[in-house]
Amino acid sequence: MDVADRSVSRIDAPRAPPRGASEPFRCHSCGDVIGVYEPLVVCDEDGTHTTSRAAEPALQISAAVYYHGDCHAEQSEAIAEPARREAYGR
Ligand SMILES: [Zn+2]
Repeated sequence: MDVADRSVSRIDAPRAPPRGASEPFRCHSCGDVIGVYEPLVVCDEDGTHTTSRAAEPALQISAAVYYHGDCHAEQSEAIAEPARREAYGR
């Protein structure tokens, strides 16, 4: 059964594209791909900072969480909302 053995090892060859620099950044909030020129909010253990893939071409996917600039702003607004209402006395 030499022929069968050989065909099995062929099927085993990886077909998925390799993970690497071309892997898209995805927004943790909406799940969409974050474009190269879109504001990219990076949340990692060092804190939160805004950049873009155009500004940092060497940026790699890591354990950090990524957001669209707009999606992150919406989240921050939602969190800040109660305090702001209090400040305006509403
Ligand atoms: Zn988003």
